[in-house]
Amino acid sequence: MGYDAESLVAAIRALGAVIAQRRTELTQLDQEIGDGDHGENLARGFSAVLTKLRSTEPETPAKVMALVATTLISTVGGASGPLFGTAFLRGSTVLGGAAELDGALVAAGLVAARDGVVARGKAELGDKTMVDALSPAADAATKAAEAGADVAGVLAAAAEAAAAGAAATAPLQARKGRASYLGERSIGHVDPGAQSTAYILESLAASAAS
Ligand code: ADP
Ligand code: MG
Ligand code: MG
Repeated sequence: MGYDAESLVAAIRALGAVIAQRRTELTQLDQEIGDGDHGENLARGFSAVLTKLRSTEPETPAKVMALVATTLISTVGGASGPLFGTAFLRGSTVLGGAAELDGALVAAGLVAARDGVVARGKAELGDKTMVDALSPAADAATKAAEAGADVAGVLAAAAEAAAAGAAATAPLQARKGRASYLGERSIGHVDPGAQSTAYILESLAASAAS
């Protein structure tokens, strides 16, 4: 079976469960260098996504992504809501009317997601934000797709790069978002949005591999 809308809905459901599991941990990261709500924000957003998916069956992967995007934008709030919303929305646009995804489409979606987040939030690589996880993930996904990887392979490469990117935010000083108000005191902590981005990709990769 190809990676169709139904596969993606199942993956988003699994992701919702992962976000709920990681809620406390993500909030603790945000307590260190932010306002301590990142886990709550995402959990609220994905809980709303799961509720919507109980009554809607989007016909294409793009429509699944659009549902996630609009729901996150209207429920997550804070800095990360519009940014994750933008990521899913840009990804949705790239998928177009495709009934099934392949490695190249997933990679293109991740590149568009990264470009959208950068355009919206104006963070550069090394500013200690979700971009530090998403950008290497998009690059790794592109490389994997070019080498012929399928959806699972592309997402595995993206997830691995995102995890490394998130871990590498710890020694950085934040230059964007709330954490930047702390100046040098932001050093020594992993960025919550980079860590959640890594968990999102890890979950999507695990679903695609199963
Ligand atoms: P808030 O900071 O409004 O409370 P969250 O706690 O939900 O929102 O999300 C914080 C995360 O958002 C940060 O850890 C960072 O990864 C991300 N973030 C903040 N500002 C930006 C930005 N300008 N560009 C990219 N990501 C950002
Ligand atoms: Mg916060
Ligand atoms: Mg907040």
